[in-house]
Amino acid sequence: MKKILQKDEPLLRKKSEEVNPADIQSERIQKIIRDMKEAMRGEPDSAAIAAPQIGELVRIFVVSKTILPKKEGVERDDLVFINPRITKRSKKKHTIEEGCLSVRWLYGDVERFEKVTVEAYNERGERVVYGASGLIAQAFQHEIDHLDGILFIDKAKNLRDLPPKKDEPKETKAL
Ligand code: ZN
Repeated sequence: MKKILQKDEPLLRKKSEEVNPADIQSERIQKIIRDMKEAMRGEPDSAAIAAPQIGELVRIFVVSKTILPKKEGVERDDLVFINPRITKRSKKKHTIEEGCLSVRWLYGDVERFEKVTVEAYNERGERVVYGASGLIAQAFQHEIDHLDGILFIDKAKNLRDLPPKKDEPKETKAL
């Protein structure tokens, strides 16, 4: 399984490259997406992951199906966003606790837009538009920061180190 890079790794500070839409169906890009999902699956508190976190400098992030709204009778899949752009932001911002799979085990308070809309390609090369609030909106902003070499600790206040306790699942999801 791909290792999730940790905060002192210089690659996490680099800007990721856009994916050529013609390459989305290529084995290279499809394997990166599979590896991202697998790495995310290996972390019980994960809610989303960006490609640089597994060492790939391409503009892709994945949101875990575990945080998507439930729909009766619908089997959800992870959502894949390729070359994502935030096209709408709410006027309102709020301050929320955040954690990161690449910054174990720090948590801090980050100011984020309450709602954002992202436009991107999905893993099949189709254009998608997704408007979200709450944790999904937070994940969109956190993951796009990763694609620009930004970590949440650059913006967070009140950073605290909260290593996991045995048999006590993390309340705050890692992004
Ligand atoms: Zn992160």
